[in-house]
This record gives sequence, C-alpha cells and structure tokens, in this order.
Amino acid sequence: MYKLVPNFPLKHHNSFGLDVSASYWLTIESTEDWNSAIAQYPHLLQEKRLIVGAGTNLLFMRDFDGLVISPDFFGYSIAYQDDQIVELEVGAGVEWDDLVAHCVKNGWFGVENLSLIPGKVGAAPVQNIGAYGVEVADVIVKVNCLNLENTEFKSFNNDQCHFNYRTSIFKEKYLNQLMVTTVVFRLQKQGKIFTGYGDLEKSVRELGVPSLENVRRAVILTRESKLPDPKVLGNAGSFFKNPVVTEEVAAALEDLLSGLPVYQLIDGFVKVGAGFLIEQAGWKGRKLGHAAVHDMQALVLVNRGGASGQEILALSQAIQLDVLEKYGVKLEPEVQLVEG
Ligand SMILES: Cc1cc2nc3c(=O)[nH]c(=O)nc-3n(C[C@H](O)[C@H](O)[C@H](O)COP(=O)(O)OP(=O)(O)OC[C@H]3O[C@@H](n4cnc5c(N)ncnc54)[C@H](O)[C@@H]3O)c2cc1C
Repeated sequence: MYKLVPNFPLKHHNSFGLDVSASYWLTIESTEDWNSAIAQYPHLLQEKRLIVGAGTNLLFMRDFDGLVISPDFFGYSIAYQDDQIVELEVGAGVEWDDLVAHCVKNGWFGVENLSLIPGKVGAAPVQNIGAYGVEVADVIVKVNCLNLENTEFKSFNNDQCHFNYRTSIFKEKYLNQLMVTTVVFRLQKQGKIFTGYGDLEKSVRELGVPSLENVRRAVILTRESKLPDPKVLGNAGSFFKNPVVTEEVAAALEDLLSGLPVYQLIDGFVKVGAGFLIEQAGWKGRKLGHAAVHDMQALVLVNRGGASGQEILALSQAIQLDVLEKYGVKLEPEVQLVEG
C-alpha cells in the first residue's frame, strides 16, 4: 500500500538534521504502488521529484517544492548459488549495514569493508559507495530499476551501470528518473579478506585472527572513533570527493605538503586526500554561523544546531576557494545538493 502525505517534515530524513519539508512524501512498497499512486493522483507526475533513501548524502538548500519518494522495498532472496558464490537480491529499502551484517554472519565475503556506511541498499549503486579500498561496484551483478516517467522496468548489468569513483549512470544520467528497486550482489563463499588499506591490517590484528568478523569489527571501531554520529551532530560523512590529479600535480603537492595521502590509480592519475588538504589549509574545527568543519575530521562538515543548507553550502564554498587558491586543486562535493 502506498502512503501519500502532504507538507511532510524532512528533519528526520536528512542526516544533516536540516529543518526542511516537502510538498508531498510518498512511500511505496512495490512498483504497483507507484502505478496506483499516479493513477489516483496524476498531478504527481508533474511535480519535481526526489528519491530518498535515508537522506545521509543530501544537502537541502530549502524546503523541497515537489514530491519525495521513499522506496520501501524490503527482503532478501538468493538468486543463485554454488560452492563458490552466492548471488543475493536485496530490496532498495533494506538498511545497508543490515545487509553487511547478514553477509558476515553467513560467511560471505565482499562487503565487510563497507561496514557501517549509513543509508539504504537502493542508494549504494547511485554513488558507488566505497571505503577501505572496496567499492560496491566490485560486488554488484545487476541493478533493477523502475523508470518513474514511463513505468517501464529496466535491468542494468555491472558494465551498464558505468560505475566510477563515487558515481554511476544512476547519478549522472538518470537521477530521480530511475528508481532502484532491488540490487543483486555476488558474494564469495571461499573469499579472502582485504586489509591493505590504511591501518586496517593493524586494527584487525589487534582484534585477533584475520577473519571476516574481525574485519567488520575493526572497520566499525575505526569509523566510530573517527566519524561523528549524525544522530548527535548532523553531517553527511565526507563532504568532498578525494580529488583526482595527474602524477605530476600529485608530486608537486607532496613536495609542498609532506604526509599527503596519495592513492595510485590507473593511466597516470592519482587520488589525493581532500581531508588533508582542507586541514593543511587551516579549516579543521573552523565555524561559519551554525555550520562547522568537524574538529576531528576535516572532510566532514557539521550542523552545530539550527544550521541552514545555505550556511553549510557557504562554508563548503569558502573551503573550495581557499584550497584552490592555496594548492590549485578543485574540490568537488560528494554530497548531493537538493534545490528547493
Ligand atoms: C557518517 C557518514 C559516513 C559516511 N561514510 C561513507 C563512506 O564511507 N563511503 C561512502 O561511499 N559514503 C559514505 N557516506 C554517504 C552515504 O552514507 C552514502 O552515500 C549512502 O549510500 C547514502 O544512502 P541513503 O539511503 O542515505 O541515500 P540518500 O542520501 O537518501 O540519497 C543519495 C542519492 O541516491 C539517490 N537515491 C536514494 N535511493 C535511491 C533509489 N532507491 N533509487 C534511485 N536513487 C536513489 C538519491 O536521490 C540521492 O541522489 C556517509 C554518510 C554519513 C552520514
């Protein structure tokens, strides 16, 4: 059954905790619900549209003058398995970390490094979530979607998703047009853990044997110690992407800033740590109105209480300008800006 609510408050549906609302909020549990809703309320098709999971990657500029759709598709089912692999189809409304816990409990390898990333399964392919050297693209077989404009179904195999660093076809071409309904993941039964990123290997060793469970525990402990809990301090995780630069630019930056984190990519490009650049530029802990740069993690912008989206955006723009002036590097937001 769908549920349509006018003048819906979004404060508890965005992790910045911004006090904004939507003209309409529509919860759907199946594609038939969408068809029924637009048959009964055809004007909804004319409304500006926003698909929302848990709202942990969104920055609202003002009240949203349109229709917000919450796809509450739940459930897990095994699409295929043999001795080596299991393919699991998961509903878009399932909490991402519940899926990770489920996989680890069953001894299935592939998503353990992505433990405790907030949000829902349906959003995971949209920005190709990643952490500790793993991206969700590594384990996705298929993304099933409903086209909200013509009510057609479309399945995308991994290649067709055009996954890249924190992006995909769902973010670039079909944002708020294709609604992810289910995602099929391929997990390994006889897999290997991957701890070659940052201090993960050391954190796992401190917990005991290098097992799937200990990778999950180590990732959770590290994330809890580094990142502010949005329930306590509104934030959306990393505000900016790590910029991708040429090897020459990275080498010049390393000469200037010793200790700069660099991650080698293919084709002569390098990813450099945005948080480090922001910290070196002197922004860690700085406040602007009700917004601030977190005092433990310069990549995270926070709502100190009562901030507006514009205040957070103004802070982010001041940081972008300063980092560009000081280091010649353009920072791009990872967070999705939502105009009203
Ligand atoms: C404390 C914290 C830590 C974080 N750490 C990480 C991290 O380590 N790595 C990382 O990659 N991200 C991280 N994030 C960002 C965020 O968790 C992810 O982007 C997550 O996938 C967002 O899920 P969501 O359900 O909240 O999506 P939302 O914020 O609701 O939406 C995000 C985007 O996806 C679209 N969308 C959502 N659901 C659907 C759907 N079913 N169909 C089509 N489009 C949809 C929305 O329109 C929007 O454009 C972090 C966020 C926080 C608050």
